[in-house]
Amino acid sequence: MDPTAPINRRTLLRRGLQVGGVVAGAALVAVALEDSRHHTVTSSTTTSTTSTSTTLGPATPSDWTALAASLTGALILPSDGTYAADALLYNEKFVNLHPQAIAYCANAEDVARCVDFATAHETGLAARSGGHSYGGYSSCPGLVIDVSRLSSIVVDERTNTATVGSGAKLIDVYNAVGSHGLLLASGSCPTVGIAGITLGGGIGVLGRRYGLTSDNLRSLRLVTSDAHVVTASAEDHADLLWASRGGGGGNFGVATSFTFALHPVPELTLFTLQYPWPAAAALLEAWQHWTLTAPDELWSNCQLLTQGTYGYLAQTSGVFCGTPSALAGLLAGLERAVGSAPTYRFVGAKAYIDAMAIEAGCAGLTIAACHLAGESPGGTLSRSAYSAKSSYVDQPMDSAHVTAIVDAVQHLHTSAPTVGGGLAFDAYGGVINRVAPDATAFVHRDKLAGIQATYSWSSATPASEIDAGAQWLTWLGATVFDPRTGAYQNYIDPTLANWATAYYGTNLERLALVKKTYDPENHFAFAQSIAPAP
Ligand SMILES: Cc1cc2nc3c(=O)[nH]c(=O)nc-3n(C[C@H](O)[C@H](O)[C@H](O)COP(=O)(O)OP(=O)(O)OC[C@H]3O[C@@H](n4cnc5c(N)ncnc54)[C@H](O)[C@@H]3O)c2cc1C
Repeated sequence: MDPTAPINRRTLLRRGLQVGGVVAGAALVAVALEDSRHHTVTSSTTTSTTSTSTTLGPATPSDWTALAASLTGALILPSDGTYAADALLYNEKFVNLHPQAIAYCANAEDVARCVDFATAHETGLAARSGGHSYGGYSSCPGLVIDVSRLSSIVVDERTNTATVGSGAKLIDVYNAVGSHGLLLASGSCPTVGIAGITLGGGIGVLGRRYGLTSDNLRSLRLVTSDAHVVTASAEDHADLLWASRGGGGGNFGVATSFTFALHPVPELTLFTLQYPWPAAAALLEAWQHWTLTAPDELWSNCQLLTQGTYGYLAQTSGVFCGTPSALAGLLAGLERAVGSAPTYRFVGAKAYIDAMAIEAGCAGLTIAACHLAGESPGGTLSRSAYSAKSSYVDQPMDSAHVTAIVDAVQHLHTSAPTVGGGLAFDAYGGVINRVAPDATAFVHRDKLAGIQATYSWSSATPASEIDAGAQWLTWLGATVFDPRTGAYQNYIDPTLANWATAYYGTNLERLALVKKTYDPENHFAFAQSIAPAP
């Protein structure tokens, strides 16, 4: 593993698994230190498909057989040998979800047939891309419409755009666009699907300079609840494009492809600074002021973690669009403000794909290996079990709040000593905050940082500690987090009471109107889906 690797989200989530005793201690320490029905056709960009206008009653075995026969892709039923594996999501805690069928769609027409079938038979449906939904909302008791085979990535160097199938994984997108000297601003986890992350926003290491993934979305193709394929752009179905830029996955239809604006890759410098735990409060205090005044070119995070029996970790890491020498002065300012020397310090220039692989926790792996084992040929990455809660920081926290954050990490360690987890602050600001909150559905445009609290576990973790972690998250949400700041819809949180306002704020009303237009009967429904306006 690359010793320059910062601790990324994926590593963070896997930390508890390792701490739980599955992986040898020496390896863990190394990781720790490294790192239609029938809508009227509304525009030339709408494709009509055969669709059922009446409810047909519950699907019978012969209905499922007929659906399978109608698809170019594959329909997996519980009787199929691969069903158990095909039903899995990324988060191992969702092992008990048992859909009636999983359709691996080969094209938009397959998706339309599946939507039509599910709505006609009222089976319930869920779209699935990378399967990383924190709430398990890409599965359902009915029909899972899996788009992972829609994974083509076509780069147009004349327009600096890429058209990406909705099932493409982030690492494959980075690899494809990077080979043209271009970048897409998006998240760190290599196996996250482009659909989920884009529809919910998409915060990443290049976000302060190039915006959210959804900010770079120019158009998308989507199958609506009436089984029509529409192309939403600034010219056609503009309200649907607006809603798809942060309005959350699974709400308005099944996206089949996205067209993104790309940017020429600049020089990139990565850095990681680690501090002893007693300096954790000083680091967080200094970091929040530092990131507030940082140039757009500098993105960073601050992580305060417990690694179970391997102790605590306080670190900041980030990506700078520029050279190491240009970053030096900025880092010196942070180090002065912290007031003590880091115990580990790395600063180094990296090529784009290497930088993204390091951030993904895939340093030293081939692109093929940087996929989930069993999901993709040559994939070596494992799933994990975790829970999370998110919030935001609008302005620098006072020292009492900073102390409360540090104490909260210690509280997790005390109540669940072998569990890994803690709090990670991701810098917002820059280009992200210069977009008006109502310009896209992504409303969180005045934030200093996003906060994510996570804890993860393995099969060896005592149930009492898993429960203690859940209680810790509840306690955090009620006492340490400020509920007025909102929550990130891509860290969708089934335990959040006021989720609709927290995710969408003042954009909620318009989102409900878009929902009414494209899914008036609320077929795309799950526990935290947007309801159609009355
Ligand atoms: C390890 C890890 C690291 C992460 N890192 C980041 C990060 O760096 N930045 C960040 O912003 N987020 C990050 N996330 C959060 C991530 O963006 C969300 O979990 C996202 O929703 C996952 O998308 P997916 O396609 O993989 O998941 P899925 O579970 O497949 O989908 C998520 C939601 O979108 C819906 N959906 C899926 N496909 C479609 C489609 N084709 N059309 C319409 N709706 C669809 C699903 O029904 C579900 O409601 C991370 C998550 C994990 C687990």
